Amino acid sequence: MQQADPEITLITDNAPIGIATHGGRAKCLQRLVRLSLPVPTTIALSFDEVHRIAAGENADIVRILAPFDDDQLLCVRPSSEDPDWGGPGAVLNIGMNGAQLEKLIPRVGAKAAARLYVKFIQSYSTHVARLDPDIFDDLDLDANDVVAQFLEAYEDEAEEPFPQVRGEQLIGVLRSMARAWEGTTARLLRMAKGAPAEAGLGLVVQSMVLGVGRGECGSGVLQLVSSETGMPQIIGRYQSQSQGRDALLIGPEAVFLEKDERGPSLEDQAPEAFEQLKVHAGLMRSKLREEMQCEFSLDGGTIHILDGVRVQRTARAAVRIAVSLALDGVIAQEEAVMRIEPRALNELLHRQIDPQAERDIVGTGVAASPGAACGRIVFSAAEAQASAARGEACVLVRRETNPEDIRGMHAASAALTERGGITSHAAVIGRGLGLPCVVGASTMQFQTRNKRIVAPDGRVFKAGDIITVDGTNGQVLAGDAPMVEAVLDDAFQTLMSWADDARDIGVRANADTPDDARTALNFQAQGIGLCRTEHMFFEADRLIAMREMIFADQPEDRSAALAQLLPIQRDSIAELFRIMQGRPVCVRLFDPPLHEFLPTDRAGLRDLAESLNLQLSDVTHRVEALGEYNPMLGMRGVRLGITVPEIYEMQARAIFEAMLLAAAEGAPIEPEIMIPLVSAKREVELVKTRIDAVAAAVRTEKGQDFGYRLGVMVETPRAALRAEDIAPHCDFFSFGTNDLTQMTYGLSRDDAGRFMSPYVQQGVFPEDPFHTLDREGVGELLKLGSERGRSARPELVLSVCGEHGGSPESIAFCRELGMNYVSCSPFRVPVARLAAAQLAIQDKLI
Ligand code: PEP
Ligand code: MG
Repeated sequence: MQQADPEITLITDNAPIGIATHGGRAKCLQRLVRLSLPVPTTIALSFDEVHRIAAGENADIVRILAPFDDDQLLCVRPSSEDPDWGGPGAVLNIGMNGAQLEKLIPRVGAKAAARLYVKFIQSYSTHVARLDPDIFDDLDLDANDVVAQFLEAYEDEAEEPFPQVRGEQLIGVLRSMARAWEGTTARLLRMAKGAPAEAGLGLVVQSMVLGVGRGECGSGVLQLVSSETGMPQIIGRYQSQSQGRDALLIGPEAVFLEKDERGPSLEDQAPEAFEQLKVHAGLMRSKLREEMQCEFSLDGGTIHILDGVRVQRTARAAVRIAVSLALDGVIAQEEAVMRIEPRALNELLHRQIDPQAERDIVGTGVAASPGAACGRIVFSAAEAQASAARGEACVLVRRETNPEDIRGMHAASAALTERGGITSHAAVIGRGLGLPCVVGASTMQFQTRNKRIVAPDGRVFKAGDIITVDGTNGQVLAGDAPMVEAVLDDAFQTLMSWADDARDIGVRANADTPDDARTALNFQAQGIGLCRTEHMFFEADRLIAMREMIFADQPEDRSAALAQLLPIQRDSIAELFRIMQGRPVCVRLFDPPLHEFLPTDRAGLRDLAESLNLQLSDVTHRVEALGEYNPMLGMRGVRLGITVPEIYEMQARAIFEAMLLAAAEGAPIEPEIMIPLVSAKREVELVKTRIDAVAAAVRTEKGQDFGYRLGVMVETPRAALRAEDIAPHCDFFSFGTNDLTQMTYGLSRDDAGRFMSPYVQQGVFPEDPFHTLDREGVGELLKLGSERGRSARPELVLSVCGEHGGSPESIAFCRELGMNYVSCSPFRVPVARLAAAQLAIQDKLI
């Protein structure tokens, strides 16, 4: 009868059991029953039923107990919708009482019977009666009257006798588990793991397989792959005369499963049972289409399967498991692609410290987010952003982080905090961003007001000093440790190749340096979608040449300075072309306000005066004259190209000469040249005419013919609105959603951190629009720009190269608009490839 009851349901082949109504464990047990595996009789209680019990209604104990023999011992386990959401611990041996004890003695022996009873008293006391577990601390487990001692301790503390009726015990267990789930702490914990506030709990009530007695009795846990790597390996332990997961405590009585040089095994003790267990586990893998951890018991040599749960796994193991299942024909390739959460790849994708390198460890803490990075110490989010704007890697050091620090974490290469644990703010955000992070580094003194940290050995590190954070091992190292690139194993490559088969939008990388380009290539970016050329001039020796160019006020001086810059620019670009081996590279002409290249402090001004052989006062005046009230809206981008045309001409020449160099070395490339911050078609016409002239000159000089593609960054609202005028002069548009967001909202990208938190908290913005593309406003401009651009020039290539280009949500939007590719920072390329593939597969399924 319970088979058809949706609330108290006997688990059979066709009972009405669902994950959303009874939880994952109940559903899994039904699947095991359908496979005819030896699963003990089990009743599933629905979420609604458990909720009623939590609210104070009595459990319908008659119906729950109906399928079980009168003296059958029972266990209760939680069954939430997602096992990761947790749940109260299982309670075993319900039904143990004085009478059961007598019955069990001839079967399992006096000592084992007493131990079962005592275990139940302990577990009932803590879980149901909520007594302090230490009331049993002083009792002697080997005493002959151990049961009497435990009962007495219980009665003293609870001020009532230990319940003897199985139904009464079960009511207590069910109520306490139901209430534990609905408590505030449990709710907050599971919500932190993504569970909805109202997530339900199911419970399963199962016949106990004792695991103790004559013949081979015991319990254990088995899985067929390693949780770390996903490689095939029989993992788990077995323990004779034990119950539940005792074997996993790996005490002296726990043995290996498979024959093992290190000690005895289940295979030695009960070879047939072991063989059978492997067959059952294999069947679970192929029929449940998943790597399962199987909890089993032996009773007189006979196997019982008590439970199956998805094998816990690292991201690396998750990839290998999905790929192996597909290679074995258990799931389709596309399903393997769908099984990996794109952001989980972050765990696989990070640089690590070279294992051969010597480590100068100056502090340790919790390894909160994998990967390693080095950078200069900064003590605030604002400094981190300023550092990123200068193109300088930094490590954000805080006592602990809070939401105001998120923008700083985006800008930093690593984060280090004094306080916090694996689920602290810095740790959670760090993992989300793929940012190496060590938290709780309390071996070091954090003197944040004085802007210094002190190592246990007394060494002091100040703002600006370089350290390395190893988020994989929880270490802080002095200086910049040598790094090795992420290990991308064969399973990862296979999964990504399947993703690429399914994907219908291109993925390129934003890369300015040879390192970036190598990472991009390593992650199989299809090209470079944005090379910010100004970033090629931030290094000290190059900066001087740049400054001389900025200070030249006579055309001859400027040409002389540009002649110095040309080879630097040409060689840097040629190097990118070489590394990218013929893949397209989109080079953006200078964008930032020139004064960004100038020194701001007195020492810097003095250095510059020296190198230019000028008076300090001259240099100071000129720097002041170049200052603007609002540089982000001032002499920037194409405005520079229009006002001082020689700069873009030099860059165009550098690009063409670099292309010829690379082609001569076997890396032919058709360069793409991109004009930043366009707002009017005339800007494009003027720049195009000049670049065409440079191209003609280079062709004649070198006696070689070549082509190039010209495009604009659509990053001002006007460019999007006037896309129809602009497109006829271009081969491509790349939407710069960073500036477009800034200008659409009228929101400074560098100052938004000050008020973003209250804005998001009060629901003014659903999210920070610099992180999550604002589909409604900025998205509207992308849509208009795309449509208007393509209406004038149908073959116009469209892309996004702002920070949003790497986020799965933005990629979905770009696909909807029919864009050709997205371009994002190199480490986000695999995430973008996988996310894009999943979108294409999902579309096919609809
Ligand atoms: C943008 O504005 O979106 C962009 C990619 O350019 P930058 O970040 O260099 O301004
Ligand atoms: Mg921009």
